[in-house]
Amino acid sequence: MVHFHAIIRLDGADGPDQSPPDWADHHLLARAVPVAARSVKLLSPASELGRWTLAWGEQLDIRPILLDPCAEGLSERAVAGYIAKYATKGAEASGTIDHRLSCSACRGRGRMSLMAACGLCHGTGLKPGLHLEALPVSEHARRMIRTCWDLGARPEYRALRLRPWAHMLGFRGHFSSKSRAYSLTLGDLRTARARHRSDQARQQHGLPPLDDATTLVLGHWRFAGIGYTRRSDHRRAHPPARPDRSPDRRRAGGVMTAPALIHSRRLYRVCEAMRLLSLSRSVIYELIRSGRLRSVTQGRTRLIPASAIDDYIALLEREAS
Ligand SMILES: [Zn+2]
Repeated sequence: MVHFHAIIRLDGADGPDQSPPDWADHHLLARAVPVAARSVKLLSPASELGRWTLAWGEQLDIRPILLDPCAEGLSERAVAGYIAKYATKGAEASGTIDHRLSCSACRGRGRMSLMAACGLCHGTGLKPGLHLEALPVSEHARRMIRTCWDLGARPEYRALRLRPWAHMLGFRGHFSSKSRAYSLTLGDLRTARARHRSDQARQQHGLPPLDDATTLVLGHWRFAGIGYTRRSDHRRAHPPARPDRSPDRRRAGGVMTAPALIHSRRLYRVCEAMRLLSLSRSVIYELIRSGRLRSVTQGRTRLIPASAIDDYIALLEREAS
């Protein structure tokens, strides 16, 4: 069963850019639509289900959409609101749910091959822990989901993949289709929404509105660099300085140290210090015990301050020179 909404418009003889003649008003259109609906037929392509003649049913509800808010009929705002409801809510607006019911491993088939039952759902085809009877949906929706699920087990409906789409009542298409000549495109809508959000944000922060000629760069990322991961890299980049014995330096405090590692954090766990210093766990603990590497404790966790790592490297460099 297909439940279908269409907005139908009359145009002039030369297409969407031309207005229709005066005598072609909405009364004429409302009389023409039922005639067209009755006469349209489509023969489905041949499949395991056979060939079917598809046609519109008896139920037809035609309402004019009028731009004048006081006129008799639907206002354009009401139609926009109605479409928006379907656009944002999807199938759950009709009382069903917004996620799949089928097992992710076997996609609802209940078995992985002809012989082997699915190990995840144990042959039910349902997502583990899910029961169709326990779904929080109306009885009406549950019956449609159940029908979809049961039909999905039949080999002749295999191609329809009804079980993975049972939560959508078997429908797996887009909720709307549009004609470019008649409609706003989704791209237009997204642009308008982005523009509105940006204006709102600028207003909030007291910034002047953007004019159309401005190109706004939203983000700029730059690689700032990393520290040395191995002691040998650090050594190569910063060869040990000879102790500077110039009078100025001596007065200022003696021996120069090599530039510190670039640290983004102040404290490291032992396993991180191992990586930073290229040393094993036992050597790190030996250094801590012997007082060559300072450490602190926070609760039961032993941590190495970033400055202690710098100091240890500087100590090694002094010893090497
Ligand atoms: Zn399964």
